[in-house]
Amino acid sequence: MKRILVTGGAGFIGSHLCERLLGQGHEVLCVDNFFTGSRANCEPMLGNPRFELMRHDVTFPLYVEVDEIYNLACPASPVHYQRDPVQTTKTSVMGAINVLGLAKRLKVRVLQASTSEVYGDPDVHPQPESYCGSVNIAGPRACYDEGKRCAETLFHDYRRQHGMQVRVARIFNTYGPNMHPQDGRVVSNFIIQALKGEPITIYGDGSQTRSFCYVDDLVEGLMRLMAVDAHPGDVVNLGNPVETTVLALAQRVVELCNSPSTITCLPLPQDDPRRRCPDIARARAALHWSPRVDLDTGLARTIAYFDALLARSRGSVLP
Ligand code: NAD
Ligand code: UDP
Ligand code: UDP
Repeated sequence: MKRILVTGGAGFIGSHLCERLLGQGHEVLCVDNFFTGSRANCEPMLGNPRFELMRHDVTFPLYVEVDEIYNLACPASPVHYQRDPVQTTKTSVMGAINVLGLAKRLKVRVLQASTSEVYGDPDVHPQPESYCGSVNIAGPRACYDEGKRCAETLFHDYRRQHGMQVRVARIFNTYGPNMHPQDGRVVSNFIIQALKGEPITIYGDGSQTRSFCYVDDLVEGLMRLMAVDAHPGDVVNLGNPVETTVLALAQRVVELCNSPSTITCLPLPQDDPRRRCPDIARARAALHWSPRVDLDTGLARTIAYFDALLARSRGSVLP
């Protein structure tokens, strides 16, 4: 059994990853500054003697002893990563340098949670790992996109320069329980709006597409990528290749929630990618991985989570 560091472990994906690693019998050190994550996400694990939660900002050096590192620390929702864009770039770049320095000293394997955003607003569709991307360097998303691109560069250079074992996962839109209710991303927004009977806020005309991966599938992919011995290539896309328009997602959420909500259109944010869909041929071949949970099943589980959360919060305001 290993002692495994998960940075950003109190966030949405990180909390699921910590639970899976504990379930396999590992010790988990979760490091988080609670910028978008919460202790509540770690609540079920706090009583486990193999789980340790440390409040720490990855832009500062970290001296701990571990056998493996997953670097997930970074806000992922546009609303949050654009709130303090300088800190977002620092988190990606300085965070990468610090975890790479740590992994180099300890001679351990380190995995970077990169993103489909490195492809920007893509003009190749679906996106294979070989596509170099189309990012607006000066736009409001650049703090996230370019920060993640620079982090990838650091991972490649530490591998070439120091002979390190690195893994880079380019994660596509992922959803599921433990997303923060005010996260601002599309799936959580639509579900909460539908459950409250409020208008569903579509940005633009809803014809833009995304490909939504359920969190359990994604976590399985991350763990396989970390475990695979032969290096499958520099980077691997992890996401669900079933592409959906934002309008179709809104309609499906309304149906599954049996909600009276209507749909309202708001302005499309600047640089919002038109289409996004992963080419997962490399993940299939190298990791024998592909998503198993279809959108309806994943949405139903996520709706049940938010339904319970809203019921609890309603209960707490009653006398
Ligand atoms: P999240 O916002 O729920 O989790 C990120 C976590 O990192 C939070 O707990 C936050 O408090 C923590 N954090 C942020 N800055 C930090 C810092 N400086 N030091 C320490 N901790 C810090 O987001 P998520 O969806 O769980 O995303 C996890 C990772 O996966 C991120 O790196 C994100 O870029 C990547 N990713 C996610 C998606 C997705 O669809 N969820 C897609 C692509 C990439
Ligand atoms: N670092 C860390 N923990 C360690 C080792 C290094 O946080 O156990 C950080 C440290 O801040 C350092 C960075 O990682 O600046 C990069 O380390 P590296 O050894 O690559 O470079 P250097 O120490 O020469 O700057
Ligand atoms: N979106 C929307 N309504 C919302 C939130 C998001 O229509 O309430 C759109 C957003 O403009 C984008 C897509 O849904 O086209 C996915 O947005 P999200 O913030 O979840 O992730 P992104 O893929 O843009 O990083």
